[in-house]
Amino acid sequence: MNGLMMDRPLLISSLLVHAEGQHGEREIVSRRVEGDIHRMTYKDLGRRARQLARAVAALGVKPGDRVGTLAWNGHRHLELYYAVSGSGAVLHTLNPRLHPDQLTWIADHAEDQVLFFDLTFLPLIEAIASRVKTVRHFVAMTDRAHMPETTKIPNLLCYEELVAAQPDDFVWPEFDERTASSLCYTSGTTGNPKGVLYSHRSTLLHTFAAALHDALDVSSADTILPVVPMFHVNAWGLPYVACMVGAKLVFPGPALDGKSLHDLFEAEGVTVSAGVPTVWQGLLTHVEGNNLKFSTMRRTIIGGSACPPAMMDAFQQRHDVKVLHAWGMTETSPVGTTAALKPVHASLDADQRRALQLKQGRTVFGVEMKIVDVNGQPLPHDGKTSGELMVRGPWIASGYFKGEAQGALVDGWFPTGDVATIDADGFMNITDRSKDVIKSGGEWIGSIDLENIAMAHPAVAMAACIAARHPKWDERPLLIVVKKPGAEVTRDELLQFYEGKIARWWTPDDVIFVDSIPLGATGKMQKSLLRDAYQDHLIASDKVPSSKEAA
Ligand code: AMP
Repeated sequence: MNGLMMDRPLLISSLLVHAEGQHGEREIVSRRVEGDIHRMTYKDLGRRARQLARAVAALGVKPGDRVGTLAWNGHRHLELYYAVSGSGAVLHTLNPRLHPDQLTWIADHAEDQVLFFDLTFLPLIEAIASRVKTVRHFVAMTDRAHMPETTKIPNLLCYEELVAAQPDDFVWPEFDERTASSLCYTSGTTGNPKGVLYSHRSTLLHTFAAALHDALDVSSADTILPVVPMFHVNAWGLPYVACMVGAKLVFPGPALDGKSLHDLFEAEGVTVSAGVPTVWQGLLTHVEGNNLKFSTMRRTIIGGSACPPAMMDAFQQRHDVKVLHAWGMTETSPVGTTAALKPVHASLDADQRRALQLKQGRTVFGVEMKIVDVNGQPLPHDGKTSGELMVRGPWIASGYFKGEAQGALVDGWFPTGDVATIDADGFMNITDRSKDVIKSGGEWIGSIDLENIAMAHPAVAMAACIAARHPKWDERPLLIVVKKPGAEVTRDELLQFYEGKIARWWTPDDVIFVDSIPLGATGKMQKSLLRDAYQDHLIASDKVPSSKEAA
């Protein structure tokens, strides 16, 4: 027997209708590419998104068509989020930090019909305009006064003119909630990039869960500044969550340096922010170097890479900003786990609570997880045994766009490629990416632990630990370090710093100092490039100490 409740579809447009009706006066503030600070309300967002939906349809975009964006976090990008998905087309957020060849490949694979771009990316668009096969129109996200003079882009249109030409009487259509809403390609760690295709249903369910107190924890009282880009897993869902709860939104545009971010936090009274550790590093350096404070910030969500303990301490102990460590992937929409403590943890001492907060945390309702061995057998949740992390749930990818990497699921579970432990309390801790793991004498060494220790040294700005080939142990950890400007530390001092913090045989065999560590398009360290460059370092430099025996 079926229940007798209304079968209303879960649609992205309903978030906008709600925000416009219930929180119409709430502000959306954007630092724009043009250099100004722009202000509008959710009422304005509703009106402009309806005009834009008409404009997109007038360009010939039909339900299911892909519309690409190459844009920063800003109000026009937000308008596209709602106008494109709300009218039944698919918003495809491209990552501008990718190489033009990769962007061309991705736009062709997605068969983008229209490409909207921020002026910053004009050179990129000029480079790919004649190469992308399916794009019929390019739209510069600006007004007539700022339109670029270029002959390299055919069919170049002006965003504000397109919007202004349309009435705001568009009616959001109703359709099946399983309809595709947006598309985001993964960083493409192996092989070609793979498209993760979200649906209206998955997005809405993810939004409900992400807003919860033990998840991203936002309400109408909050002012959210998503530093995480809107081209990286939909800015972790915050543009949808903000509409659901009626929070004020502040967009940083292209200015992601410490000073610009801090100025905006203070000027707009930001209470919650979210981003990857590399961005916070820049912000903390600015704040601490200039003796500044956070007067309204109460919480920051850190994910995308492991939150270094030194960073958590800086925020929580020196600045009274609570850190919520979160884990997720493009394939998980992304919220999977958060390290939100439970009442049972209140009796723990400060060090024990800190240790839990540094884990990637427990599942948000809707996500299930387990760890398995190489044969796919479940492993115990004892906080010690590590295995591959598998997840499933209504906002986890079941496959990739156009069937790339067929058979992505194993018995209905998504293999994340992360290696993790899960403790008896359900807190998951990532020890590595399966491809980054260091296997020394048949035993795993967690590179993230080794990096975190190095990062806690006052002279270290960034550290990566990779597997270097070793004639006896197969692989041994090799530490690659970027020093803080003006700071000094030697190889031996750094290696001594590990003493007492880990089993001795985990200590890296050598340290290489470099000027910079390559970062991928989403701000993660590209350890594969480091491996390519340094994997023979120990053999070549004859540094083959039998560290394990020494332990
Ligand atoms: P992406 O799809 O680009 O967002 O990358 C997802 C991957 O980032 C995950 O599979 C993890 O390897 C890594 N990741 C995300 N959040 C964390 C975290 N809090 N700690 C460690 N690694 C993380």
